[in-house]
Amino acid sequence: MRALRALVHLGKFRRNVRAVLALTGRRVCVPVKAGAYGHGAPEMARAALEAGASCLAVALACEGAELREAGIDAPVLLLSQCLPCEIPDIIRYRLCPLVSDRDFALELARAAETASVRLPVHLKIDTGMGRLGCSPEEAPGLALRIAGLSSLELAGTATHLAVSDSAAERDRAYTKEQLARFSLALAGIREAGVDPGIVHAANSGGVVLHPESWFDMVRPGIFLYGYDMTGTAGKGSAAAPEPVMELRSRIVFIRKLKKGESVSYGRIWSAPRDTVIAVIPAGYADGIPRLLGERAWEVSIRGRRYPLAGRICMDQCMVDLGPGAGIPRWEEVSIFGGDAPGAGELAARVGTIPYEITCHISGRVPRVYVD
Ligand SMILES: *Cc1c(COP(=O)(O)O)cnc(C)c1O
Repeated sequence: MRALRALVHLGKFRRNVRAVLALTGRRVCVPVKAGAYGHGAPEMARAALEAGASCLAVALACEGAELREAGIDAPVLLLSQCLPCEIPDIIRYRLCPLVSDRDFALELARAAETASVRLPVHLKIDTGMGRLGCSPEEAPGLALRIAGLSSLELAGTATHLAVSDSAAERDRAYTKEQLARFSLALAGIREAGVDPGIVHAANSGGVVLHPESWFDMVRPGIFLYGYDMTGTAGKGSAAAPEPVMELRSRIVFIRKLKKGESVSYGRIWSAPRDTVIAVIPAGYADGIPRLLGERAWEVSIRGRRYPLAGRICMDQCMVDLGPGAGIPRWEEVSIFGGDAPGAGELAARVGTIPYEITCHISGRVPRVYVD
């Protein structure tokens, strides 16, 4: 195996899932889209179900197919809108799509009827995300329409929150407004004599900051992978989650550098004193943001922090061990997580979010599952 690998701590992930189950007392749907935010979809799906999750969620029909091919039998929600040509896969792999409009509902119903199956779907209502979903006013009519189609089953009703992870007063107010619109639409659906099925709205921010968004089921993603975007977990009722991914490599080469000699492309870094440089086989092609080389990042070796030296290359980066550090070749290095600062801090350093960091750890980095 190559030196660079993403350690995925399954025990921590299971503890995060159990913590959400205990906090909310609701069913938990675990998003495993984008290869479980880069952690590996079938493995995280299995761990989630072992920890007590009720269902899984993906963005693409092919992601649902991957779970089924891996032998996973739990319900799988299809969160994003797919093309009509993907409907056969929805039916074949028993996925449960979120439906935003009548036309697509009819397409699904036709295909389900032809296949002689009753397809569960969830109605998606847009309450202020401005992405997928019907308007709250359309919801009762659309729910009635779906309920009237014998080949479809209205198994749930959902919405999605745009600023639930922000504790700012203005954003809390917006979330409350979204939830009020959702509740009004739900009341309309029930008044029309339709059972909305499993009602769900809460993403990670909703779980941590908005108990009134929990309804029948919650679908937190980033929180379960170990990052609290609200900055409040551990202070209120929700405990801080444990980061699941750790990016580790090893020193593959060590060289001595004289004061003033430069390292890497562009020569933006030169040795401030005679020093020792370690070469780590981990680069931007592995998903480490190239910008990090200019943002004073420190890796951890034997529990001590050492700064990156110079620009990150496609396949390698360099670390300044300082004079006389006594670190041997082949030694382990934590790039983020473990003894090093986490992916959340790394994301902040380069102006992004931890979602993007873990999602971008590339396919050529082996995931090593540890318990
Ligand atoms: C990805 C996603 C989630 C999970 O969001 P987090 O911010 O990771 O908690 C929940 N619901 C929908 C519709 C999503 O697309």
